[in-house]
Amino acid sequence: MTHDAEVIVVGAGPAGSTVATYLARAGVDVLLLEKTAFPREKVCGDGLTPRGVKQLIDLGLDTSQEAGWVHSRGLRILTGELTLELDWPDLASYPAYGVSRTRHDFDDLLARTAMKAGARLHERTTVTGAITDERTGRVVGVQGKAGEDKRPVAYRAPLVLACDGVSARLALSVGIDKDEKRPMGVAVRRYYRSPRHDDPFIEGHLELWDRSDPARPRLLPGYGWAFPLGDGTVNVGLGILSTSKAFRNTDYRALLRSWLDSTPEEWGYREENAVGRIGGAGLPMGFNRTPHYRDGLLLLGDAGGMVSPFNGEGISAAMESAQLAAEHVVQALARPEGPSRERVLRRYPEALAEEMGGYYRLGNAFARAIGKPAVMRAATKYGLRVNPLIPLVYKGLSGCFDAKGGDLVDRLISAASRLTPAPR
Ligand SMILES: Cc1cc2nc3c(=O)[nH]c(=O)nc-3n(C[C@H](O)[C@H](O)[C@H](O)COP(=O)(O)OP(=O)(O)OC[C@H]3O[C@@H](n4cnc5c(N)ncnc54)[C@H](O)[C@@H]3O)c2cc1C
Repeated sequence: MTHDAEVIVVGAGPAGSTVATYLARAGVDVLLLEKTAFPREKVCGDGLTPRGVKQLIDLGLDTSQEAGWVHSRGLRILTGELTLELDWPDLASYPAYGVSRTRHDFDDLLARTAMKAGARLHERTTVTGAITDERTGRVVGVQGKAGEDKRPVAYRAPLVLACDGVSARLALSVGIDKDEKRPMGVAVRRYYRSPRHDDPFIEGHLELWDRSDPARPRLLPGYGWAFPLGDGTVNVGLGILSTSKAFRNTDYRALLRSWLDSTPEEWGYREENAVGRIGGAGLPMGFNRTPHYRDGLLLLGDAGGMVSPFNGEGISAAMESAQLAAEHVVQALARPEGPSRERVLRRYPEALAEEMGGYYRLGNAFARAIGKPAVMRAATKYGLRVNPLIPLVYKGLSGCFDAKGGDLVDRLISAASRLTPAPR
């Protein structure tokens, strides 16, 4: 069979461009197919915790402020009654700063990094499904439509990597469905011109209040964020978990407005300061689509449901999965097709589970618990007032802890992750 590349990567978001970069640097011939054209917008909060920054550094990117990144020194947690400012922890595994950058810039930078490494990027190419070998059922390529005229295209390669995000069209085309028992999220965001654009802290709002009727403040469902972008604007948004009653039967855009209209006027989160429209999308969490490898197809990032159930962060996991996928694909391609190669590829989902599986099981249990308003209320009311608990909550929620070694808090989170049983 003739091949168009050694590896086809579908989707040039953080997962796709990162894995394409690592593979191309290792000398692999990579075809990267992307339905849009860069630079383009992608609905996101635009924020990376230190866990994500580590991934940028691993990729060899300059993460300095001079190179266009806005640095954060920590997280400000706000509830109705309480405000806590916490610096990012000082760890062996991750640097002590987070970064923000619009996905308009960030994804363009990642795609250019992949091309510089040698990956062949085909933009405006929408993959509609996998091509499978009739006899074995193995994925041997992809088909789709390219260009303005939507001409049919087909490409073949021994390995295909699904990095097509939450729509997961490629995985669906071979019957890899999502597990409805795992949590999902929905999130919406908008940019606002605001004097808080150069705040050194990113913000997490654990309670969203509608105070339009001061006599009757109303607690709204969901959790909010404000990530300063240093360019005069702040990315402000909110998310709701599928474990909450409000999931699905909520007008998310109206909810965002109700919350923001009740924030202090001087923050500037008002209609007249809004830049662009409210955008929203789903957050596939806690490994809600598996297996992550089957019959020549690997799932990475959102396509494999890798958003953290603790905090909705998905970029770092997308890039971590890319690093692991690249390692296994390079080793696999160095072996002859057949059982020996398959043995390596089957190690990819195992490596992912070792890296994130336990933490996500714990996260899935956490998402189920905080879906109940009483549990969430008690956690914010009491948990954040008990000083010894704060580092545990903070490191646990942000995913910033040393999985090996570390202090007592790090070891507690690692132990809890190991001990949380898989859901039935
Ligand atoms: C409102 C909101 C706020 C968020 N905030 C944050 C945050 O602040 N920090 C964070 O870490 N995470 C955040 N996330 C999650 C984060 O956006 C995702 O987890 C992350 O983008 C996943 O990266 P990915 O590469 O797997 O997928 P994507 O970034 O979705 O990339 C997929 C790529 O594939 C392309 N594609 C899709 N279908 C096809 C197809 N059929 N053919 C060809 N190409 C295709 C897309 O155009 C895209 O370029 C947020 C999500 C939302 C919805």
